Amino acid sequence: MTFDVPTTRQMRDVLRLGPGDHVIVLDDSGWEYHVQLDRIDRYSATGTVLSKKLAGGEPRTKIVVFQGLLKGSKFEYVLQKCTEVGVVAFVPVVTARAIVPGESVADRHDRWARIIQEAAEQARRGRLPRLHPVVDFKTALKQAAGLTLLPWEGEESRGLRSVLAGRKVFAVNLFIGPEGGFREDEVALAIEHGAIPVSLGPRILRAETAGVVAASAILYELGDLGG
Ligand code: SAM
Repeated sequence: MTFDVPTTRQMRDVLRLGPGDHVIVLDDSGWEYHVQLDRIDRYSATGTVLSKKLAGGEPRTKIVVFQGLLKGSKFEYVLQKCTEVGVVAFVPVVTARAIVPGESVADRHDRWARIIQEAAEQARRGRLPRLHPVVDFKTALKQAAGLTLLPWEGEESRGLRSVLAGRKVFAVNLFIGPEGGFREDEVALAIEHGAIPVSLGPRILRAETAGVVAASAILYELGDLGG
């Protein structure tokens, strides 16, 4: 096995690894490889694959988070924590009350992709969560095929457990609003597209908290977050 320059530099300069050391390699294939390093120079490294097994870090339930754009590092927090929890894809959404950052889309996308990559490595994810292009709310609703939940603080009775009960769930779309929340007309439009408003309890969560809590609760309820 041959390693690319960034991985070589991380192993050599950050992890201080050398020939004979063992590493676990994930290549977004769903497999993880147990590798012994043979050679490591300034810009390249090679190793011998000792064994491989299916990467254990992937949940059965595929959750896609459609997150209203957030100010500053809050959006990055969502990417990092939801990657750790097991979300498989992110769709940044421009909603009526979303704060659209001033920087270029390309710069933002590259930084977000790096945060997902680092979080996936740290969490030993077998697959890299996908980062989709920014879309507007209506487009996002059209993209969300299958069971689509819209956590909304205005929903006072229906909770996650009641929606998941008795269903065979393999995929869930989660729509989380921006700091200012969803507007009533957006909730109505989402319902027209088949989305189900759900409550995350009587306490109002910050936008960057809500996605992590909802994804964790769904995975736990479906047995995908430990025994
Ligand atoms: N209207 C909120 C307020 O009064 O502060 C602002 C929205 S909240 C900070 C951001 C997002 O988190 C909401 O759009 C919703 O998706 C989700 N959220 C927060 N708390 C929730 C709750 N208790 N139940 C359902 N969704 C919630």
